[in-house]
Amino acid sequence: MKKLFQSLVPLAVAAAAFAAGAQDFPGSKPITIIVPFSAGGPTDKVARDLAEALRKPLNGATLIVDNAAGAGGSIGANKVAKAQADGHTLLVHHIGMATMPTLVRNIPFNVENDFEYVGLINDVPMTIISKPTIPANNWKELMAWIQANKGKINLGNAGVGSASHLCGMLFQHAMGVDMTAVPYKGTGPAMTDLMGGQIDIMCDQTTNTTGAIEGKKVKVFAVTTSKRLTTPALKDVPTLQELGVKDFNITIFHGLYAPKGTPAAVVKKLNDALKLALKDPDFIKREEGLGAVVVNDKRVEPAEHKKFVKSEINKWSPLIKQAGVYVD
Ligand code: ASP
Repeated sequence: MKKLFQSLVPLAVAAAAFAAGAQDFPGSKPITIIVPFSAGGPTDKVARDLAEALRKPLNGATLIVDNAAGAGGSIGANKVAKAQADGHTLLVHHIGMATMPTLVRNIPFNVENDFEYVGLINDVPMTIISKPTIPANNWKELMAWIQANKGKINLGNAGVGSASHLCGMLFQHAMGVDMTAVPYKGTGPAMTDLMGGQIDIMCDQTTNTTGAIEGKKVKVFAVTTSKRLTTPALKDVPTLQELGVKDFNITIFHGLYAPKGTPAAVVKKLNDALKLALKDPDFIKREEGLGAVVVNDKRVEPAEHKKFVKSEINKWSPLIKQAGVYVD
């Protein structure tokens, strides 16, 4: 009996400390949001806007955005999967959470088992864009230019497993063309090179491309959604479906994650704060201006977020395999 009591005491102490930690959360220790892509890109923009919107609901906590970029977003995701599960290290990631398991073999973490799902943040369309100097001004001319320049075209992306990688691969598959992939650690720097003409084409989130399209720093040819967008700079851009490209419909999403084992009470506090952030008019306005739609449905709940990512894994896995675009 004495032995049992002795072995239970440390457990009880640990449980009390855990509960106290959850009660105080976030306390004075800063919260680091890991972005698995370069600074200045679309995931980075969403994370920085979200960090701002989370500050108040998290009692004025200090939120730091840290870019752990590379390997198509898997370096940063792995860092969070292995981080201390106390709510002070979080991850903002996109559709890569659903496509990486099929696109990239041997990722060093398990998307379904190594994270606590905190809630979905937004849905974001993608656009097919080019450097400003190509002679094409519409889809038909783009196709003709691609055919005339076979073997010479460079396609920027954020590495294997990223959204731009997936979109670029589907684009090549749909068009029956091969382009040379130029991987970056995020589409922030890829966009700089596209504007400068070092690369030719890219498919990227509207959160990164809208400003450049508006400023005529790049040319836009299509949006990847089934309906046209309402954002002023993008409302005249045709959908791929209108252009006759079938089965090529991508809307990506961003979600908030914590390492597996983060106490339920802490996840609840983070989720409560996320829900408030997603109602913040400034945050909504910023996202809408960039063509993104802030989540306003049940996917903001952790269980529904997880269910949604699972459904996206199931949706993309056969399409990726069918298109044969995965990487060994
Ligand atoms: N847009 C990038 C991607 O293609 C990621 C980023 O830089 O945020 O996945």
